[in-house]
Amino acid sequence: MSTQRVAVVTGAARGIGAATAARLAKDGYAVAVLDLDEGACADAVKAITDAGGKAIAVGVDVSDAEQVEAGVKRIADELGPPVVLVNNAGIIRDNLIFKMTQDDWDTVMAVHLRGAFLMTKACQAYMTQEKFGRIVNLSSSSAQGNRGQSNYSAAKAGMQGFTKTLAIELGKFGVTANAVAPGFIETDMTRATAERVGVPFEDFLKGAAAQIPVQRTGKPDDIAAMVAFLCSEDAGFVSGQVIYVAGGPLD
Ligand code: NAP
Repeated sequence: MSTQRVAVVTGAARGIGAATAARLAKDGYAVAVLDLDEGACADAVKAITDAGGKAIAVGVDVSDAEQVEAGVKRIADELGPPVVLVNNAGIIRDNLIFKMTQDDWDTVMAVHLRGAFLMTKACQAYMTQEKFGRIVNLSSSSAQGNRGQSNYSAAKAGMQGFTKTLAIELGKFGVTANAVAPGFIETDMTRATAERVGVPFEDFLKGAAAQIPVQRTGKPDDIAAMVAFLCSEDAGFVSGQVIYVAGGPLD
C-alpha cells in the first residue's frame, strides 16, 4: 500500500467530479473515482493514470448504505484510509412544485443528502483515526432558490447545514468540512436543463454568461481548483464555510 493520502470523489465518472478527481490526483492523492456504474469510471481513471497518477474505479450508489459500506472498505483495503472526501454525486429531477412527484422529491434527497451522510459517516471513521481529514460537499447557487428546483434547492441548502455541523463535530480530530456552491457550470447536468427548457445548449450558455459578472459560464476545472484548495494542508483553518464559485457575488 502506498503512503499517498487517499481521496474519494463521488459522482466522478464525468463533469465536476471527474475534473476534481484529476486535479486531486495531480496534487498527489491516490484517488477513488466513485460513481454509480464502475465501468463508466474507466475514462476518468485512465486520464489520471495516463498523467502518471494513481486511481481506481469504484461502483457505488451513494444512496445505498450497504454499497457505501462495502465500497469505502474496498477503497481502504486497496488504496489506504480515505482522508479526503468530496461529496459530489448529484442528480436533478426538475419540475414546478405542482407537477413534482414524491418520487422526484425523494430521489433527489436520497442521492444528495442521504448519499453525503452515508459516505461521510463511512469515511470519517478513517479521518478521525488518522487525525486528518478534508470533507468538501457540493452545494449550489440553487440553494438560494431556483424555479423548477424546489427539491434540488432544498437538498443543496441542506448540504450547507450538514457541512457546518460536520465542521463543529469533527474539528477536534483535525478534520475540516466545507461546501462549494457552484453557479452555472458547463456539464451534462446544465445540458439537461437546457433540453428541459427547450433552448439549444450554446444559446443557453450565452444567455447564462450575460447574467454573470465575469461574463462567462464556469468549467468543471473552476470548481476542481476550489475543492483542491479546501483539501490542501494550507486550508486547515478554513472550516464550516460555504464558498460560492459562480463568477460573481452570492452569499
Ligand atoms: P453530472 O455531469 O450530471 O455528473 C454527476 C455524476 O454523479 C454522474 O456521473 C452520475 O452518474 C453520478 N451519480 C448520480 N447519482 C449517483 C449515485 N446515486 N451514486 C453515485 N453516483 C451518482 O453533474 P455535474 O454538473 O458534474 O454536478 C456535480 C455536482 O455539482 C452535483 O452535486 C451538482 O448538483 C453540483 N452542481 C452542479 C452545477 C452545474 O452547473 N453543473 C451547479 C451547481 C452544483 P450517472 O451518470 O450514472 O447518473
